[in-house]
Amino acid sequence: MKVLKFGGTSMANADAVKRAADIAAADPDNKFVVVSAPGKRDPADVKVTDLLYACYNEKLKTGACGKSFAAVEKRFNDIIAGLNLRLDISGRLERIKREIDAGAGKDYAASRGEYLCAVLVAAYLDREFIDAADLIKFDARGNFCDELTNAAAAKILAKSDGAVIPGFYGVKPDGAVKTFTRGGSDVTGSIIARAVRAEVYENWTDVDGFLVCDPRIVNDAKLIPMLTYKELRELSYMGANVLHSDCIFPVRKSDIPIRIRNTFNPGAEGTLIVPTKKFLSGEFGRPDSVITGIAGRKDFAAIHIEKSLMNNELGFARRVLSVLERRNISVEHMPSGIDTLSPVVDGADIDPEVLRLAAAEIRSECGADNVETVEGLALIAVVGHGMSRKRGTAARVFAALSAAGINIRMIDQGSSELNLIVAVENGDYENAVKSLYRAFF
Ligand code: ASP
Repeated sequence: MKVLKFGGTSMANADAVKRAADIAAADPDNKFVVVSAPGKRDPADVKVTDLLYACYNEKLKTGACGKSFAAVEKRFNDIIAGLNLRLDISGRLERIKREIDAGAGKDYAASRGEYLCAVLVAAYLDREFIDAADLIKFDARGNFCDELTNAAAAKILAKSDGAVIPGFYGVKPDGAVKTFTRGGSDVTGSIIARAVRAEVYENWTDVDGFLVCDPRIVNDAKLIPMLTYKELRELSYMGANVLHSDCIFPVRKSDIPIRIRNTFNPGAEGTLIVPTKKFLSGEFGRPDSVITGIAGRKDFAAIHIEKSLMNNELGFARRVLSVLERRNISVEHMPSGIDTLSPVVDGADIDPEVLRLAAAEIRSECGADNVETVEGLALIAVVGHGMSRKRGTAARVFAALSAAGINIRMIDQGSSELNLIVAVENGDYENAVKSLYRAFF
């Protein structure tokens, strides 16, 4: 059995919904469909989820959400009309507007796009609508409860012959709606796939699959036919954003593969994401390649710390990390030398002033000889199981960057030899990715 999840562009207008519904209806292996809220119809458009955040903000500012809500109503009514669907959602719309005006939370407002979309698709497909509020559970602090959810969802879905389920949200113990982070309907699809023990989780979006690198940098970047969960984790962390980076966790528990498919090009095979062991045992017969993908992000910052005899000093790294923890700074990587340590942090998330304060505290509290913060670094990860125990990959990376005249500011290789991360100046980022692509593909 398959679980199908359709993203926002696949729900953006009546034509897209029709395509998605036809795909689901034509697949004899499909019972459960998870949907996002309608996304953008063109690059200048606004996603329904953003319209709903605007409703929440309008209510905060003016006491009522009327103006913004009219845009939400229009999006759904247009889709219903375009599908010639005999469905009256006016009562539901009225209730949502009333709840937002009565002070319902931000997550409640945001979640209603998925909720209404699932009601609509369920009616169109003539399937049951099952509310994510009955399936997906968070604790009182807003942490996702995976086992509680799995038990609840497995029990409820076992009784259904087929259903449409809204993505993106669940509820806390008091019934308050809680959403995942943006793009979280991918996570819902994965949770449902695990709960019904699907053979595959198909994630239908608007691209053919994962590309070897960002097509905005290399416009003819090749498609990756197969990835492992671990490679996906590395690439999505680094910014390859076809899928929400948390969506592997539920399916990984049951070794369920994910296949990325394109609603607008259903003939394409897509990208298959498989558990590492299935790929390593050759079950999926992946062609041999050294590198699977290249991904990166700009705007990291490094705190270069120097102290002589650091290697002999017990607890030095712990004291550095305590300062960062106290300042609420999360460490992304930590390359080190004999007398140096360079925690790398996500500069886009951190106020530069807080970073400077933390650096001063590291100097005074840890007795460092020198502490310097460097901002504006881009990290690029070269990822692939093929690198492991293979000679020469690092040499090819460095040779490519050197030939392009790019200075490497830092190097970090994961212990699994699954990735090699280099830091370059923000300004060198695009060129670095291009030269690595040319070197390996
Ligand atoms: N609608 C939500 C968002 O725009 C969740 C999703 O589409 O996955 O982020």
